[in-house]
Amino acid sequence: MRISSRTVLRRLAGLGAALVLGGVPLTAGGPAAAAGPASPRCTGHVALTFDDGPTPGNTAALLTVLRAAGARATMFNTGANVTTNPGLTRAQLAAGMWIGNHSWDHPHLTTLTADEQAAQISRTQDAIRQVTGVTPALFRPPYLETDDSLRAVERRYGLREINADVDSRDWDGTTVDQIVTNARALQSGGVILMHDWPPNTLEAVPRIVAELRARGLCPGQISPSTGRAVAPGPVTPVLRQVHTAGRVAEIGTGVGYTWPGVYFEGRFRGDSVGLALDDAVNDYDVQIDGGAPITLVTPGTTVRWIGGLGRGDHTVRLVKRTESPANLAGFGGLVAGPSGRILTAPAARDRQIEFIGDSWTAGYGDMSGGRDCSAPGALTRASNADQGFAARTGRALNADYRINAWSGIGMVRNYAGSSPGTDYRTYYDRTLQAVDTSTRDRPASWHPRTVVIGLGINDFSTPVGPGEKWADEAALVADFQAAYQGFIDKLRQRYGPGAELVLTYPDLSYTTTALAESIQQIVRDRQARGDQRVRALYYDNGALGLDLLGCDWHPSLHDHEILAGVLTAFVRGLRR
Ligand SMILES: [Zn+2]
Repeated sequence: MRISSRTVLRRLAGLGAALVLGGVPLTAGGPAAAAGPASPRCTGHVALTFDDGPTPGNTAALLTVLRAAGARATMFNTGANVTTNPGLTRAQLAAGMWIGNHSWDHPHLTTLTADEQAAQISRTQDAIRQVTGVTPALFRPPYLETDDSLRAVERRYGLREINADVDSRDWDGTTVDQIVTNARALQSGGVILMHDWPPNTLEAVPRIVAELRARGLCPGQISPSTGRAVAPGPVTPVLRQVHTAGRVAEIGTGVGYTWPGVYFEGRFRGDSVGLALDDAVNDYDVQIDGGAPITLVTPGTTVRWIGGLGRGDHTVRLVKRTESPANLAGFGGLVAGPSGRILTAPAARDRQIEFIGDSWTAGYGDMSGGRDCSAPGALTRASNADQGFAARTGRALNADYRINAWSGIGMVRNYAGSSPGTDYRTYYDRTLQAVDTSTRDRPASWHPRTVVIGLGINDFSTPVGPGEKWADEAALVADFQAAYQGFIDKLRQRYGPGAELVLTYPDLSYTTTALAESIQQIVRDRQARGDQRVRALYYDNGALGLDLLGCDWHPSLHDHEILAGVLTAFVRGLRR
């Protein structure tokens, strides 16, 4: 499923300020890929360049403006600033920018000796390579001052010198309007000089990009072989870099997702690997070579580096621990470390399992060790879909799996009657849950042999209240069973008559027997209709010894291990 970053932007805008991402791109390759060479409206390309960064207080805002404009640019950084601000340097790369060399500390190079020039250039090459893993191919001399001897030094380091066809003069206190006017001199193939730091540049960029696009000129990359602006080169889409079975939407070269437990598996060579993330809401676990998980708490927009590994080949697994139904999370791919490279992704597994459910399936509060998770952030920190029974069962069966779970949601009625008019069925088809309303997720590669459904706890765990659409529990039961049958019909249509459907339910007898009776009735009805591959699986909380010591009386790690054992044995026992 491919949607444009602009589509997401619009959708996000419509959902209000609570959404985090602001529709920004996710990518090691670049947000503007969608607006790049393939766009029929690009009759030519120009290069936006920004010198003297990265700097705190400026670069992040500039990247935000560029990404909002769907533009990629070349950042001519000084080595000193790269070394002081490695995170911002990686953020430039993660936002799809190209990085060039602008000397170590911005001297008048033509007044220096050849050795001093070489030191200015080589120290900066090393700094950028150490921080990003990428060796620059472009050099811009400070003050645009150059001569034959400096060019000879540049060539020794494999650098192409880039001056400027158009000087925006943004370094000279130029007004926003005048910067925009100066940019009108750009022609196809041309390069414009701007800077990382002037506030007026930030304001001018959206107007410049809009005017260029109106002229058919798209922001492009500077060719190291010609020094001219060209269409951005091909970038590796994330989905060609890593293996995932999760529900993801392609956005540019990256992917966006909202469901919990989405995982990405890749391979790389070298002693470090970068993970380009765009997510200020969710927590992640990273595993290298199957080792102990490293938890990334709300990483934000960044390339997170995992280093200090032995040289050689490694596997990396990234998993989204938490739920974010209304917040688009983004992964831009793996970044190779210095002298390393990304290797071919692991193959998909033969077996596929889909999990459909609520907070139990999502691993809500499973890491907690206590039921009170009311402290700020406590529930998020304590929730880990990758340790829930679903992920455990998937791994035990060596299956690829999807966790389509949403806490608090029921088949026809959500927890305590909340959010009337919506229920699980409202969102099941959506790749991006409450973020995107158009994407429909029907990839040809997803054909689970087994579908495990865990819905109904929220429908029945609280009594029907006044003002709800059901007169009493009997009416709710009738509605629940009819909706469940319709949902099974949909799964049958989607996955065929051979898929095994497992309808799970825990012990709710402390409040009602309606859930247990309904599930049993649904299975009897299906089997009476000749649909034999629908089974019920009862989790007997007491007999299994569940302690429900997770947040808000949810299954604990102890419980999920037990549930996974029961479910794994049950699925193994189903005939092939
Ligand atoms: Zn400069």
